[in-house]
Amino acid sequence: MAPSPHSIPAPPGSGLDGSLRLPSGDLLIGGEWVAAASGARRDQLDPSTARTLASVAMGGPRDIDAAIAAASEASVAWRAWPASRRRDVLLEVARLIDEHDHELAVLRSLETGAPMKRKRGQSLAAEWTRYYAGWVDKIEGTTAAPYGAPALSYTVPEPYGVIAVLTPWNGGMVSAAMKVVPALAAGNTVVLKPSELAALGPLRFAELCLQAGLPPGVLNVVTGGPDAGEALVGDPRIGKISFTGGGATARRIVEASARTLTPVVLELGGKSAQLVFPDADLDVAAMTAVQASLANISGQGCVLPTRLLVHHEVYDRVAAAVTTAAAALRIGRPFDDGVAMGPVIDAANCERILGVIDRARSSDAGVLLTGGERLGGALADGYFVAPTVFGEVDPHSDLAQQEVFGPVLAMMRFGDEAEAVELANSTPYGLGGLVYTRDIDRAHRVAHRLRSGYIGINAFPHMPPNATLSGAKQSGYGREGGRE
Ligand code: NAD
Repeated sequence: MAPSPHSIPAPPGSGLDGSLRLPSGDLLIGGEWVAAASGARRDQLDPSTARTLASVAMGGPRDIDAAIAAASEASVAWRAWPASRRRDVLLEVARLIDEHDHELAVLRSLETGAPMKRKRGQSLAAEWTRYYAGWVDKIEGTTAAPYGAPALSYTVPEPYGVIAVLTPWNGGMVSAAMKVVPALAAGNTVVLKPSELAALGPLRFAELCLQAGLPPGVLNVVTGGPDAGEALVGDPRIGKISFTGGGATARRIVEASARTLTPVVLELGGKSAQLVFPDADLDVAAMTAVQASLANISGQGCVLPTRLLVHHEVYDRVAAAVTTAAAALRIGRPFDDGVAMGPVIDAANCERILGVIDRARSSDAGVLLTGGERLGGALADGYFVAPTVFGEVDPHSDLAQQEVFGPVLAMMRFGDEAEAVELANSTPYGLGGLVYTRDIDRAHRVAHRLRSGYIGINAFPHMPPNATLSGAKQSGYGREGGRE
């Protein structure tokens, strides 16, 4: 029999009184929480201690089949629901996310290791949900003027049917809200496959959706590994695929979608550049680099500016400030007092990141300014990698070109604006970028020349739901956010 949701004692320092509710870790299919057909489960670990946090069902092709059948059946009634009713259910989901804000922030920190002070992620999920609830009754078609024959032509936007949503481990509830809610708002039903590395946030999101009154089968969640994902994206009953994750997985998904000609939206990785011009507020620029690329979820974010390009006149000053601030970051478990940076997600990623650092050192890709090792002592049990900064990085090296997805910052010099833009555009990715300058002409001119989905000027972009997001080059295609 499948386990029920249960409570664990609230982690000390989390600010929660009493206990924390954990989802059962089961699959949600047709409104029921069920075990995987194979009975398989996987221990989800706390990345800061490597201790088991929860046991999560490992769904496979049979579970995906059942979930798609449930979503297809529910689709008929859901698309016919009055817009006002659909809107109200989604508004209730947003209200419940807000009501549980603190608890959800604790859950996120527990399963990702991100320091507890980073609560904003959860309210972002509520914001996206509320924003798309607002669209439900504003989706309109068009009427065309008579053209030749005296016939009336008009368009009616129709749902795709069942949407396959695949999310990465670092997105948690925010990724789920960003992808699931717009699909539901437009009258689709969903099969969500969260990452097996951190499934509790998406499962808790699904619990809140049911509590808000979402009918059975409208949202189904199948936790599992690549085989569950492959079964989902290869099924001809899927109307559209919405994927956020890495490029290698994306290529396999596109191959599968080619067989059924299913449309796909891809939000992939990045190697975003932060460009610092000599007139910028250099202290702010240095702090942004350290906070955004290293401390923030230990550098494991798609849009984080993991390349720091600095004008040669101010390079040494910025390098010194970044190195000092990175070395001073307080690293620890997410609920420890004053902690600024947590662990990376698991043992495999910890090894992979240390391997990237070793190869960068042995190939002289750059000069190691700080970090470069796994932390021991009191943190030896968890997957802690020291915040790592390389200076004078060779722009052609892997370190400069490839996403690390860990706390590793690559610094480079540029001589003038043209070189800065060329360097920034020189990787296969095009997700985000930051421009630091007080010259408003230059800020917009440079932003316009960067081949990237979204650019921040003197600040890190905060992903408002009403702005369209899209990667360029190998950072993905299709659009999310806003009306799109
Ligand atoms: P991943 O590609 O390993 O996994 C993403 C999802 O795909 C998971 O649910 C996984 O189980 C599933 N999957 C794995 N193999 C599959 C297959 N063969 N067929 C179908 N599904 C499969 O990514 P990850 O390690 O969870 O996340 C890190 C990556 O995600 C990074 O590259 C990061 O940049 C990217 N990311 C992008 C965005 C964005 O909005 N652009 C946001 C967050 C993360």
